[in-house]
Amino acid sequence: MKRSDFIKTLAASSLAPFVMELNTLQNWIDNQPNSAAMPALFLGHGSPMNAIEDNQFVQGFKDLAGKLEKPKAILCISAHWLTRGTKVSAVEKPETIHDFGGFPQALYEVQYPAPGAPALAAETRDLLQPLEAELDHHWGLDHGAWSVVKHLFPLADVPVFQMSIDYGQHGTYHFELGKKLQSLRKKGVLIIGSGNIIHNLRLVDFQNFNRDDYGYDWAIEAREKINELLLEGNYQALCNYHELGQAAQLAIPTPDHYYPLLYTLGLQEKGEAITLFNDKLMAGSLSMTSLKIA
Ligand code: ZN
Repeated sequence: MKRSDFIKTLAASSLAPFVMELNTLQNWIDNQPNSAAMPALFLGHGSPMNAIEDNQFVQGFKDLAGKLEKPKAILCISAHWLTRGTKVSAVEKPETIHDFGGFPQALYEVQYPAPGAPALAAETRDLLQPLEAELDHHWGLDHGAWSVVKHLFPLADVPVFQMSIDYGQHGTYHFELGKKLQSLRKKGVLIIGSGNIIHNLRLVDFQNFNRDDYGYDWAIEAREKINELLLEGNYQALCNYHELGQAAQLAIPTPDHYYPLLYTLGLQEKGEAITLFNDKLMAGSLSMTSLKIA
């Protein structure tokens, strides 16, 4: 019997009220706000060394992991995949990309062999329409993705795929694109923006690299301002970060590490809270501030 015939038969039978109730139940489930949605994250990834060190930031990631349900897959929007146009990686077995130089051998030996998620990648591309995003069959996992995801899911048993950042676009564009991914959260996909809100590599104070919560005056000012805007939900101001004054301009000299944050903010739904963690400055000109939306 075809499904439509089956439903007709049921509707004509004494089970009809039950079928009606099932429909009502389905409507109710469909309209529930975020009961089953995965959180959305922005993770400050900092130095690639965080991949193999054990420090307060890594501990922050591990504490977060303890509170997360295991997702069906992870979509990472990393500061280290900048492209013209938007791409979604649809690789079956993404390679671990060591996209940095001058670090100890141990870091180059790290492998994170999580599978990819080609079907979800295609679904993600479709969600972005009318934007014509491209499925990419080459990009593996860059360190913006694996250096943090490995602390959340050390067994590499959750599929991971990435979406690139169209570097020719402005803040609001990225925020709006993030919004289009909302339905993935309800399908069990954990979306992670990975970058650093304050990221001025030119001014890094290597003499004070390990000094706790150490930032220049402008970095302290920028963190305070940006955190305030985050917590009051003023995302329009955050999209227009270049208008936030001199401290913010020093904090975000180029937006590569900042844009992933805007994707995460675009994923917030009504009534969801935003929680900051790892909210520390380091080496004068970097911040590790991370956040969870749930
Ligand atoms: Zn980075």
